[in-house]
Amino acid sequence: MTLTEKDVLNCEFAELVEIPWHEEISVTIFCGEDRFRCSCGAFYDKRHELLDHVEKSNPDYAADPRWVLREMVKRREWNNKMFSREIGIWDCGLIGDEDWKHYTKTDLILDTTGKLRNKAIEFLKEERS
Ligand SMILES: [Zn+2]
Repeated sequence: MTLTEKDVLNCEFAELVEIPWHEEISVTIFCGEDRFRCSCGAFYDKRHELLDHVEKSNPDYAADPRWVLREMVKRREWNNKMFSREIGIWDCGLIGDEDWKHYTKTDLILDTTGKLRNKAIEFLKEERS
């Protein structure tokens, strides 16, 4: 199965936030029958069942940037840099000790071409280097 550029970037984001990415990894013969295996460990008797599983299991982070936002917000330890104006993913202010106010940038959260995902990838890679 050939990955599109969109799939490659969605996969890269998933790996950076440590979410399993589903993809066909092998065909095995079991009692004379082909079985199809996903990278998550699931087996399917029919290839189209595996492909259906893969499509339903992998979010399209470009088409729906809320998936990106959810994963980034879960990682509160990244807050200081992630929410800064310098990084530019979105702005925020700290109200009191625990209540964060988040202001998403509308040009990123409404975009369906992958701008938020790509900025998050850029940020996460910088964090790891
Ligand atoms: Zn899977």
